[in-house]
Order: sequence, then C-alpha cells, then structure tokens
Amino acid sequence: MTETRTEARPYRAYTRRDIDRLPALSGLAQSQRDAMKAVSAVLPFRVNQYVLDELIDWRALPDDPIYQLTFPQPEMLKPADFQRMFTLVKRGAPDAEIKAAAKAIQHQLNPHPAGQQELNVPRLDDGTPLPGAQHKYRETVLFFPSQGQTCHAYCTYCFRWAQFVGLDGLKFASREVEHLRRYVQDHPGVRNVLFTGGDPMIMKAQSLRAYIEPLLSPELGQVREIRIGTKSPGYWPQRFVTDSDADDVLRLFEDVVKSGRHLALMAHYSHPRELSTPIAQRAVERIRATGAVVRTQAPLIRHVNDDADTWASMWNAQVALGAVPYYMFVERDTGPQHYFEVPLARALAIFNGAFRQVSGLGRTVRGPSMSATPGKVLVDGTATVRGEQVFVLKFLQARDPSWVGRPFFARFDPEATWLSDLRPAFGEREFFFESGLDAPRRRRLALLSEADLPAE
Ligand SMILES: *Cc1c(COP(=O)(O)O)cnc(C)c1O
Repeated sequence: MTETRTEARPYRAYTRRDIDRLPALSGLAQSQRDAMKAVSAVLPFRVNQYVLDELIDWRALPDDPIYQLTFPQPEMLKPADFQRMFTLVKRGAPDAEIKAAAKAIQHQLNPHPAGQQELNVPRLDDGTPLPGAQHKYRETVLFFPSQGQTCHAYCTYCFRWAQFVGLDGLKFASREVEHLRRYVQDHPGVRNVLFTGGDPMIMKAQSLRAYIEPLLSPELGQVREIRIGTKSPGYWPQRFVTDSDADDVLRLFEDVVKSGRHLALMAHYSHPRELSTPIAQRAVERIRATGAVVRTQAPLIRHVNDDADTWASMWNAQVALGAVPYYMFVERDTGPQHYFEVPLARALAIFNGAFRQVSGLGRTVRGPSMSATPGKVLVDGTATVRGEQVFVLKFLQARDPSWVGRPFFARFDPEATWLSDLRPAFGEREFFFESGLDAPRRRRLALLSEADLPAE
C-alpha cells in the first residue's frame, strides 16, 4: 500500500444499506450483520473507506475502539428493543414496519437532551426566528449551516444522532447567511461564531466560504473569533490534503486569519489512533500553516477511550502536532447513553490520571465537563468537608454568566453519571442555580425529581 494511493483516495461512504455488501464485514456471521441492521435502523450508521482501511484493527473485533466508535453494537439498544428490531430484520419485514418500530424506540432515547429545541431558538430584532442557530452563552453563537447536516462518518455515541435519523426535520431559513449576519449585528456582545452541524467540513470550499465570508465584513468587526466544529481531521483528513478543493479550503482559512480574526478548528478526536496516520498528521500541519489553531475535544466513552493512558497519549500526540487540548466531555444523556456512560467519579479519575501524565502544554484541557441545560458543569474534584464526601463542581459556561467559576457541591455518588443524578451536599434543598427557575421548568429539565418539588 503506497502512501500516494491511500492518500488520494476518493471519498466513499457506506450506510445501513451496504452492511451485507461490505467486504470488511464478510467475515461476520449473517446473524451478526442482521444485528447491525437491527441497531442501525434505530441509530445512525455511516462509515467511509479511510476509516475501514486505516483506523479499524479488524483482528480486534468487537473490542477495537474505532469499530466501537463507528459500528452499531447489539447492546446499544435495550435488550427488549434489540429483540424487537432483530426479529423484524430476520424475517425480512417491510421497510415501513421497520421504520415505525425504530421510530417508537428513538422517541424513548431522549432525542433532544438539554431542551435544545425549545429553549435556544434565537430571533432577529423584528421577530424572525433563526432555527439554524443557538445562542446560549453571551459571547458565542452556534450556527448549523443547512448544507453541513451530515458527517464523513458517524460516531455511535453522537448526541446529535436524532437529526441523522430524520427525527428533526430541516428547519432552516432560505436566507440563513443573511439572517446570521443580521443577528450578529443586532447583538454586539457576540464575538465568537461557532459553525457546527453535522460537520461543516462536509461542505465544498465554495459553500463554506459563502457562510464564513459575510462575517469578515468591516461592519462585523465585533466578531473576533470563528470556530468550526469538525470530526474531519480524524475521519477524513483528505479534506485538507488531497480533496480536489483542499487548497481552496486552506485559502479560506488564510483569508479568515488575514482579516485579523482567530480561526479555530475544534477537532473532535476520540482516540489517539485517529492521529496516527501520515495523512492525519499532514492535515493538522496544513491547517496550522494557514494560521488557524487546532483545538481538540471529545467525550469520554466506555468501549472507546475510557482509560487514562489513552487520553494521555492522545493529548501528547496532539501537543506534538501543535494542537491544543481543549475539553474532555462527559457522555450526554441521550441515545445509547447506557452503553457508553462512565460514572462521574470514574471520569474524574481517568481525567486526573491522564492530566498527570502530560506536561503543562497539554494541561490546557478542561474536564470532565457536562454540557447540561444550565451550562457546562466541570467536575473539578472530590473532597471531604466536615465528614461529608462531596463532588466539587463549577460552571465553565452558564446561561447566567455570573454563575461561572463559583464552586458548588454535590453529595458524592459513585454511580452518578449526569448532573440530574446529583443532589446538593450539606442537606441543602437545591443547587444555587436552580432557584431562578420555576418548578415546571425544573422538572422538565430533570434537575429535580418529582418528590423534591413543592406542590403546585
Ligand atoms: C460548548 C458550547 C459553546 C462554546 O463554549 P466554550 O466554552 O466557549 O467552548 C457555546 N454554546 C453552546 C450551546 C455550547 O454547548
């Protein structure tokens, strides 16, 4: 296998329809492929030739971390749900029947964590909604380009899985770029625009430019930072090296930097193997040569990266390439959470075990962090205060900026995996940030259990 041949490969994606045809899967039993079809009727599945050929170690199935990262596993569904889907697939049930059964299961998997849908649709001053945007933290607007609604491959744990299985219709305005520009202009506090998706790097360079260039205009001088959230440096590094418009992408990056702004590629790397191929390293080198900064983030996921050495070697590899470790997230409360979740206490131990192995240059990373409804909550440590064992928590980002950085305490619970599992320490009724929210809101946000609520 010569480097030029592997490097210049054309992009080719495979989905559920290809499961019986993929040579890579021909070694599996039919029942295993049927199991894959059963799960991927419910959860999204998409992989590409580069991931198949260069990232997965096929001798290490089913435990190989990149296989777990991209291929559906039976245990990702609850046993009864799996049986139901598996039976339908095995008896060759019609598509419509499979889809209906899948939809029922999808709706039980908390497809919209953190109330994203209802809480965060921003509006222009004249009331026009921007359904393709979120503005939760004052300085940063998230923007979901309608053309960036897929990825070069899907992660099995993705918290945005619902949009890939068609649970969320596309709801984007036809004049989305103009609306984004106007929105930012109406909100002088916005200094940072984060393009996300899906993966914006799925777009052709020309489309990406159409979204980004309007933000570089002199009237929007307030916008100092542009970010692109992307998995492409891990899943399809060809995007920056050999794709026919790779150079156009890099020229766009250069233009952003030349305009005096900070351009950050928020690169989602789940495992050090994604940084190990020559082309993956070349991609980072070429992105950095434009003046853009590569910042890295990923959730901590059981079966994929749930040990300290994996994170330490990933952060060290990133620092060696000039990338900046940024966030370690906690797996969110959606989709196959039961399969991937790691208790907060264990997440903290893994974070610290890895943090201690990297130099100060890798300690730019923060985590473990939960992106929850009230904000990004850092599990900063555990402590014993007057005999009570507690988690020490604080907001890294919050709906109310005054909450950021203020330590608060939860009863230590070795099983807790999410903010909603935590109860205030020291016998207090609620966390400080809950008092501003009314009871129905708090119940909807799962911040309090039914029993804790006052009668309405
Ligand atoms: C994480 C996140 C951001 C960005 O937060 P930073 O701490 O600036 O990286 C913005 N909006 C939402 C909704 C987020 O979850």
